[in-house]
Amino acid sequence: MTASLTDMARAPWMTGGACHDEDPELFFPISASEAGADQIRQATSICDGCHVEAECLQYALVNRIKHGIWGGRTEQQREALIRARSRRPQARLSRR
Ligand code: SF4
Repeated sequence: MTASLTDMARAPWMTGGACHDEDPELFFPISASEAGADQIRQATSICDGCHVEAECLQYALVNRIKHGIWGGRTEQQREALIRARSRRPQARLSRR
């Protein structure tokens, strides 16, 4: 299942995110190298102080959101979590 923007706008936890007043582009870096890496560091540092981080990550995992930083994780980190969960269904969501 993929989430549409309309679906995402309905997620009640989103209004409580620490990124609510941040530039959304910060959470969608163009690459993982150089400038993109700096964006990722800035975005994940905001996620570190977010009280809906777990909900955000779970939402991105359940909806298989491919792009952007969600729940403090990059798309590559989320893919790794999904692979780990498929190997070990009881795997917890360990931080990075
Ligand atoms: S975890 Fe990060 S991306 Fe998700 S709502 Fe919080 S600040 Fe925004």
